[in-house]
Amino acid sequence: MHRTGSQDNRPAEAERITRAAAELRRSHPDRFLPGVPLSTLTALRIGGPALGLAWLRNSDDAKRFLEFARVAAIPAVCLGGGSNVLADDRGFCGLVGVMADDGLEIRGDTVRVAAGMPLDRLVVESLQAGLTGLEFASGIPGSLGGALVGNAGCYGHEIGEFLREATVLRDDGRIDTVGPEAFGFAYRQTAFKESRDLILGAVLSLQRGDLAASLAERVDHLASRRAKHPVDLPCAGSWFKNLPPAEPGGRRQPAGALLEAVGAKRMRIGDAGVFAGHANIIVNLGHARSDDVLALAAQMRAAVLDRYGVRLEAEVRHLSWLAEPPWPGDPWAFRG
Ligand SMILES: Cc1cc2nc3c(=O)[nH]c(=O)nc-3n(C[C@H](O)[C@H](O)[C@H](O)COP(=O)(O)OP(=O)(O)OC[C@H]3O[C@@H](n4cnc5c(N)ncnc54)[C@H](O)[C@@H]3O)c2cc1C
Repeated sequence: MHRTGSQDNRPAEAERITRAAAELRRSHPDRFLPGVPLSTLTALRIGGPALGLAWLRNSDDAKRFLEFARVAAIPAVCLGGGSNVLADDRGFCGLVGVMADDGLEIRGDTVRVAAGMPLDRLVVESLQAGLTGLEFASGIPGSLGGALVGNAGCYGHEIGEFLREATVLRDDGRIDTVGPEAFGFAYRQTAFKESRDLILGAVLSLQRGDLAASLAERVDHLASRRAKHPVDLPCAGSWFKNLPPAEPGGRRQPAGALLEAVGAKRMRIGDAGVFAGHANIIVNLGHARSDDVLALAAQMRAAVLDRYGVRLEAEVRHLSWLAEPPWPGDPWAFRG
């Protein structure tokens, strides 16, 4: 379903939140920045400002961020690299915290890393320490935290395979250490996508393997990404998830193949267009608006549904201006 987030569906609630956030900014000017456009924090380069933006440089910042939001009843979300998110043109009627802790400690085969660490830098750092395993993730934008929440993957591997434990900040302020079972890792899915808990950091298990082969694999993956993905146009990666395998144990069927067959590469709404090199990638051709992108995604999905009877599920998440009534408190409007 395509829902735009641009209309004020609950004006009284938006006004209450706006007043509460202004009060918070007044009392804590050192913590919350006003007016920072989400277009500067998201790979698609789209999105108006949040009511307050906080850099979460350590677990204490993160704890205070959630606590301020909870006490003032202001919606709050966390971003990593913003590479899998479409932010709304109006911005976000709430607080946005950006995970900015990129601490790293490598001991033996164990990597202890903070959630704000850019994933590709983690690949490089672990290879430099002689550890292999993460090379599949070479060139995936965004942070480790975002990768864990979405179980990012490619070339037959997913980040969840390497998780030993994670440090999690609960919505109520508790900090817990959890194992992989708490994530319920599945294809681009974990339990943390549906919760308001924040991932603060993780311990990954890697191994000493054939370093030369891993480095060669990294070089291949980076070259293949340069060839297949837009290099100079903003995008959020694949818009839709791939489809389940045709037979048990088989490979997922690329959504891009169906989209290509229905002529998606010729689709464009405003400045939102489908990338000429990959039918499952929406690019911002200049001044795309969030509603253009949502309308284009809806058109792509409708074309595939019409021809094949298959309903594509969005992988990119839409951060709407305000949570809509059926999901109070949850501003992630795109349920696929
Ligand atoms: C060019 C390009 C290529 C891509 N290729 C791939 C690919 O091959 N495979 C793949 O899987 N993805 C790919 N992506 C998508 C994206 O890079 C990944 O999903 C990435 O892991 C998202 O991380 P992020 O830090 O940017 O998350 P964000 O986009 O910032 O956030 C995504 C979600 O995670 C939540 N989140 C982020 N950090 C935390 C945290 N610390 N605690 C709790 N919640 C958090 C956010 O609230 C949001 O719901 C690609 C994107 C681009 C632009």
